[in-house]
Amino acid sequence: MNRVLIAEDEPRIASFLTKGLRAAGYTATVVDNGVAAAAYARADDFDLLILDLGLPGQDGLAALAQLRARGERLPVIVLTARDAVPDRVAGLDLGADDYLTKPFSFDELLARVRARLRDRGRDTPTALHAGPVTLDLVRRTVSVDGRLVELTAREFLLAEILLRHPGQVLSREQLLDRVWGLAHDPGSNIVDVYIGYLRRKLGQDLIHTVRGVGYRLTTPSEPETSTEGSPPPVTADPDPSWLGR
Ligand code: CA
Repeated sequence: MNRVLIAEDEPRIASFLTKGLRAAGYTATVVDNGVAAAAYARADDFDLLILDLGLPGQDGLAALAQLRARGERLPVIVLTARDAVPDRVAGLDLGADDYLTKPFSFDELLARVRARLRDRGRDTPTALHAGPVTLDLVRRTVSVDGRLVELTAREFLLAEILLRHPGQVLSREQLLDRVWGLAHDPGSNIVDVYIGYLRRKLGQDLIHTVRGVGYRLTTPSEPETSTEGSPPPVTADPDPSWLGR
C-alpha cells in the first residue's frame, strides 16, 4: 500500500513530490496531463492519486469525474491554487478524498497521504499468495511454505509487483520504473540481477522469463521456467497503465 500516482504538469513540483515520497518509502509515478491521469489512475496499480487541478489535456476535475464514473475507488488528494474555493468544492463533490492548497509543505502532504492510505488499508488485501510464497503486506514479511525469508525493501517491492499481476508479462523497463524509479539507467541489468535474488530466495520456479521482454509470475499449472527454444513471446504489454510517467 505505497504506490502513489502524481498528476502534475509543473516539473518542479512533480520532482519535489516524487523525491519526497520516495524518500518516505513510497513508489511514485508521474503523469503530466489530465488524459493520462484518468487513464493510469486504476486501483489495481496505485493506492493513491495526487491530482493537480490545472492540467493540460483535460483538467483535474474532468479526470476525477472520469475515473469515478468508471467506478475507480482509489483515494484522491486534490492540489488546488490558493483561494480556489469553488475548485475545492467541485473536487470534493466529484469524489476527491482530501485537498491541499498550493503552496504546501511536504510534511503536510505526507500527513494527508498517510491518513488516506490508512483509510484505504481497511478494505484492501493484507497478503498476496503465489504457490508456496506468501507476502504479508502489513508486516512486510515473506514466507515460503510458512518459513520466513529475509528480503530487502527492493526485493520485496519487486516480488509485490509480480504477485499483484499474476500471469501478466512485465517488461524490464516497467519493473525498473516501478522499483527503481524513473531516473534509473534504462540499460541497466539490475532487474535481471534482482530477479535472480528472488528466485534464489523464493524458489526457482516462481518467476517465468519471457525472453527479450521481461518477466511474469509463473502460474500454478506451468511445469518450469525456461522459454529457451520456444517461439518469440508477446512483445506488447497489454496494460498501458504501466507506462505512466
Ligand atoms: Ca498545474
